[in-house]
Amino acid sequence: MGQVIEKTFNGLKVPQGEKITFKDGKPVVPAHPIIPFIEGDGIGRDIWRASQRVFDAAVKKAYGDTRSIAWYEVFAGEKAKNNHGEWLPEGTIEALKEFPVSIKGPLTTPVGGGIRSLNVALRQIFDLYCCVRPVRYYQGVPSPVVSPEKMNVVIYRENTEDVYAGVEFVSGSKEAKQLIDLIASFGKTVRPDSGIGIKPISKFGSQRLVRRAIEYAIAHNLPSVTLVHKGNIQKFTEGAFRDWGYELAAEEFAAKAISEDKVWADFEGKTPAGKVLVNDRIADSMFQQILTRPSEYSVLATTNLNGDYLSDACAAQVGGLGIAPGANIGDSCAIFEATHGTAPKYADKDVINPGSVILSGVMMFEFMGWTEVRDLINNAFAKTIQQKLVTYDLERLMPGAKKLKTSEFADAIISNF
Ligand code: NAP
Repeated sequence: MGQVIEKTFNGLKVPQGEKITFKDGKPVVPAHPIIPFIEGDGIGRDIWRASQRVFDAAVKKAYGDTRSIAWYEVFAGEKAKNNHGEWLPEGTIEALKEFPVSIKGPLTTPVGGGIRSLNVALRQIFDLYCCVRPVRYYQGVPSPVVSPEKMNVVIYRENTEDVYAGVEFVSGSKEAKQLIDLIASFGKTVRPDSGIGIKPISKFGSQRLVRRAIEYAIAHNLPSVTLVHKGNIQKFTEGAFRDWGYELAAEEFAAKAISEDKVWADFEGKTPAGKVLVNDRIADSMFQQILTRPSEYSVLATTNLNGDYLSDACAAQVGGLGIAPGANIGDSCAIFEATHGTAPKYADKDVINPGSVILSGVMMFEFMGWTEVRDLINNAFAKTIQQKLVTYDLERLMPGAKKLKTSEFADAIISNF
């Protein structure tokens, strides 16, 4: 099945399979794709073992022997440091470039010098400019709100700019002082003992993110894309994000999307059938509305920092971290990943919830167009939770639930296919 690839990465042979390629920002997926995985540190080991079993069983159930995944382990984090002396070996970067759809567990962020965060490094190296976080409710999961099922959103968070760009200067440094002097020459005052962080938001960065969000809404027949921003205060960054978003919608999606202003001006506030409504909300109001009127929102396009806060707030509302999936997507590479950390105290105990990686896999299969696998896993996952078969984190909050080990939870999902 597939070609034999002679090249090795980190000294490891590539399994027999076929390469995924990208055309116009979309993956072209063969029947037996080679997919690299980074197992992840801490609980990553338990989670990956369980998740891979679920993925393989679902592919087999959906396609028999006509399709399969050639999993290829690549190293990052502690395992890479131990085996190769580096947190993120060059071989791993090359492999992720060569086989551009991959999945990863959580990684320890090395403390002290060197790479700031491996996750941030991967996003930058591969220009993964969309951080995508779908947030929906699975019946039976304990939630802090009365009607968690009303939330069903997909957050498209810009992943490369904003205060995450790393343009920061410590208080008292030569650079901070020079910048403060420069700002003074523009007639603005900044206290001399300030640390300085720069918040760059570009038209290019904003529009490529909003484009992906609108494309997603169109492809999935979703009613709206909401541009979330703090433009009432930060006019030339957050406000510009909103303006560029509307501009892009008008220029590139005139036939399929319509702005809220136009809906009111021409259609008495009723979105014409078949069009995606593009509206905007100020971030603080958005945080209220996800609690008070969650069903009015479907795709949220956000700047980087707002999206970071908003994704966790939304995830908490439907039952939390252990089952929140994520993806980082660019034009020629996509890495699907757990959104939680390495929870070292639970490592190798076979107790942790593998839901975040399993549902990240669901996103990956959807991205690959393997929708039968997506649906099999999604439905079986929902059913398993409804049967109150869950790991410790949910069991402690669900009266009458049965506590399963990580591996048993995977078995339960597979038996529900
Ligand atoms: P964490 O690993 O996410 O764990 C915090 C707590 O969240 C756990 O103690 C546990 O709570 C709960 N939790 C996390 N994952 C869970 C799962 N799969 N199932 C059930 N409960 C889960 O956060 P942290 O302790 O702040 O970070 C530890 C390390 O992870 C750090 O090195 C950090 O840099 C790294 N990290 C990596 C990523 C990433 O790779 N994407 C993301 C965040 C953090 P209870 O104890 O209450 O059960």
